[in-house]
Amino acid sequence: MAYDPNNIFARILRGEIPCRKVYEDEHVLAFHDINPQAPTHILVIPKGAYVSLDDFSERASDRELSAFLRALGRIAREQGAARTGYRVLANHGRDARQEVPHFHVHIFAGRDLGRMIGKAPSG
Ligand code: AMP
Repeated sequence: MAYDPNNIFARILRGEIPCRKVYEDEHVLAFHDINPQAPTHILVIPKGAYVSLDDFSERASDRELSAFLRALGRIAREQGAARTGYRVLANHGRDARQEVPHFHVHIFAGRDLGRMIGKAPSG
């Protein structure tokens, strides 16, 4: 899938629409999800134009890859999530119901997060 430069996270990166920023460095931006599914729900995104984890893991440079993972852990610690636990999740493609076609990892924390994955819808 080709990268759509007008997706909502690309627009956040260009400063065209606001976000509640929690972290930024040369390669990474993190902000609160607009529709939180847990008391802490943060989205961590690379600044480069990658559609999903599939694309990022294939094309990103070693620097981008390491910066992203370092930032992810650091953000979870800084938000206090590492103390009691957190979950990370990345949706790729149709079956995962990825909504925004710019790679992002969700960090959920702040309560018992329950089972790892729900039952699939019938059908
Ligand atoms: P996904 O299904 O993994 O693509 O998740 C996309 C996430 O982006 C959802 O949790 C949305 O609530 C979130 N989201 C969509 N638009 C915004 C926005 N403008 N600011 C922050 N989060 C957003």
